[in-house]
Amino acid sequence: MADWWLESAAAVHRSFIAGERSASEIVDGVLDRIAVHDPILGAFLEVAADRARASARQLDRRRLAGEQLGPLAGVPVALKDNLATDGLRTTAGSALLANWLPPYSATVVRRLEVADALIIGKTNLDEFAMGSSTEHSAFQRTNNPYDADLVPGGSSGGSAAAVAAGLVPLALGSETGGSVRQPAAYCGVVGLKPTYGRVSRYGLIAFASSLDQVGPLGRTVGDVADVLRVIAGADPEDPSTCLEPVPDYRAALGGGVQGWRVAMPEELQKGADAKLQARAEQAFSALVAAGARPVSVCLPHLEAALATYYVIAPAEASSNLSRFDGVRFGVRQGGDRELADMYSQTRGRGFGPEVKRRIMIGTYALSAGYVDAFYVQAQRLRQLLAEDFAAAFSMADILVTPTTPSLPFRFGAHDHDPLAMYANDALTLPANLVGVPAISVPAGLTAGLPVGIQLMAPAFAERALLQAAQVVEDHFGPAAAITPRRGGGQP
Ligand code: GLN
Repeated sequence: MADWWLESAAAVHRSFIAGERSASEIVDGVLDRIAVHDPILGAFLEVAADRARASARQLDRRRLAGEQLGPLAGVPVALKDNLATDGLRTTAGSALLANWLPPYSATVVRRLEVADALIIGKTNLDEFAMGSSTEHSAFQRTNNPYDADLVPGGSSGGSAAAVAAGLVPLALGSETGGSVRQPAAYCGVVGLKPTYGRVSRYGLIAFASSLDQVGPLGRTVGDVADVLRVIAGADPEDPSTCLEPVPDYRAALGGGVQGWRVAMPEELQKGADAKLQARAEQAFSALVAAGARPVSVCLPHLEAALATYYVIAPAEASSNLSRFDGVRFGVRQGGDRELADMYSQTRGRGFGPEVKRRIMIGTYALSAGYVDAFYVQAQRLRQLLAEDFAAAFSMADILVTPTTPSLPFRFGAHDHDPLAMYANDALTLPANLVGVPAISVPAGLTAGLPVGIQLMAPAFAERALLQAAQVVEDHFGPAAAITPRRGGGQP
């Protein structure tokens, strides 16, 4: 019981169903561990203690009454703070939404509640999910649980750090260009970006709508598979969701990869740290040792992916963020005399520098004189990339790459060089541009820091993706929960 926090979500669920521990005991254990360790880590923006205790009491009553309980009954879950939660402050890491209480919950949040998961609180992120380090949060710093002088990655840095530190066994994050997989890699946990359209975006505060997708983080592939099954599927509130049936992802996990074709595209290793490339090769060899056949594929337009993303994502963001004007959404500032003054003060004081940079880049890329040269050109490249990946997936079932080009970096390392920050996403954002699913799986440590391996699969092949990820997890061993240590910096 003492070391409950080392357990997988599946084990916590089983112990609750078996009556070995009550939901109230589970929640109290989680809240105690958060109280001890989160002051050092800084993963949570808000801990919803009363709400979690109330849900736990209700769940305990229902269990004693012999009611049928959901597949995540008794499992504590944290939510990235850009997922709208009825009655719980939802800030998107922005001063502009510091006091926003949504009147509804995101579909993914409702589905977790229907599955009887216990919502513990909201986690830190880069403002409006724009970033790769969680340093752009308007509120606080989140440390990497392995080394408090290093970033946890981003933008779902709070969710990844909370899972890695054993504060919760599961969390939701969101992805636009790697915001689940990159922090999962930096913190040594599993992070999945589903196929575009697999999971509802309703209630996810929009960054770039053609790229955004909600994804789970956990310490085992099986746990992530269980969450995907709960949150995936068509949603009338999000017309971009697909009708594709949702399989039992866990059922496939032991199946192995005998006879599958696997490839390590050279273009997705280039520029990565040699140690990380070597680890990806080990993962690849593990798949081959399990019976997969190595094949080669090429992605001739991959070189353009980073630039393509950093035109399309800011362009969509500049449009999506127009609603934060102090009238429709956002803390209103100024404007005693003039409307224009109110807009400019609300947005000028409310948005942080990275968000303003994106809005300016996006507005420029869409402006009348430049739209053809930037936005339209980026759409053409996106199409060429989609064709590259379609060709690659006609040859290979699974692609293997390092998740990130480098290991977690120090706070402030990219303060004066936004392009260096953007380069962190070079290996993850292609999956968002072409809409395919991808996962980061822990592959042990190097120099005391976690390494993540990325696997990619064709659209809606999450079952195969998770099945291959299980082989990689079996090879390297599942993620360990680590107790965060105090470093030089405070969260
Ligand atoms: N780091 C990337 C960006 O800043 C991706 C962010 C994300 O996936 N939300 O755009």
